[in-house]
Amino acid sequence: MSIKNIELVLTPPEPHFVGDGFRVHNFIPGGYRTDMERMNPFILLDYGAKFYFPPSDHPLGVGVHPHRGFETVTIAYKGRVAHHDSTGESGVIGEGDVQWMTAASGILHKEYHEKEFSREGGELQMVQLWVNLPAKYKMSAPKYQSLTNAQISKVTLPDEAGVVEVIAGEYKKTKGSASTFSPIHLLNVKLNKGGKADFSFPEVYNSALLVLEGKVTVNGSEEVPANHFALFQNDGETFDIESAEDAIVLVMSGEDLSEPIAAHGPFVMNTRQEILQAFEDYQKGKFGYLKD
Ligand code: MN
Repeated sequence: MSIKNIELVLTPPEPHFVGDGFRVHNFIPGGYRTDMERMNPFILLDYGAKFYFPPSDHPLGVGVHPHRGFETVTIAYKGRVAHHDSTGESGVIGEGDVQWMTAASGILHKEYHEKEFSREGGELQMVQLWVNLPAKYKMSAPKYQSLTNAQISKVTLPDEAGVVEVIAGEYKKTKGSASTFSPIHLLNVKLNKGGKADFSFPEVYNSALLVLEGKVTVNGSEEVPANHFALFQNDGETFDIESAEDAIVLVMSGEDLSEPIAAHGPFVMNTRQEILQAFEDYQKGKFGYLKD
């Protein structure tokens, strides 16, 4: 086994608002070496760093919009996010919960602050990760995996180092809770002060981490502060993370789909023709209906 080295550490880009409720730093697809081809199957990463929203008489968020060709994974760290969609599904993503939505052939949905959270105001911290689908699944039926924190597999680290929540894939032989369409590991790592954890993924997998809390040291030398993103080279299998303070790190690693990417806004397909088809289907109402 050889060491997987860090390729680059990104400072958080200037935040922008998605709708009026999500203030995010967009790390993928970034201009600098984090484009969709490089990061595939992770084709978008929006990070809502901790931000206080004052009380509002209407829930802030983003109105009805479509998705096709991929999955959206929403993780709430602080605050609560609600959603509704054209298949009739709805729900609340509470602190520590994960919603894994397979948009696949097409869905309309809206995402906003949960009503009570909105009324009271509070701090929101969340992640939305888009996971690409292999071509053969892009037009399959939409589906949902709503994982409350209690339902997520957990691995307790030795020496009271902390806990690893296995959202998808595997960690130390514990299987993740979400099913995926291609090999992906998605781990929420909670380190206690002085804690350390090690990881091993195939060298060809595209791998990265996002630090949500604390400052961590990777492979004993590279420091990655809170709200920073680190991309690994595809040069080895193993790395470790340690922290002198309590830390939370989202670790992702996935097999490159090695298929062409054609992306436009909320549609991510393989060819330009399929993107045009997505617009046409959307305009014809084939994504269903959802009230604004
Ligand atoms: Mn969406």
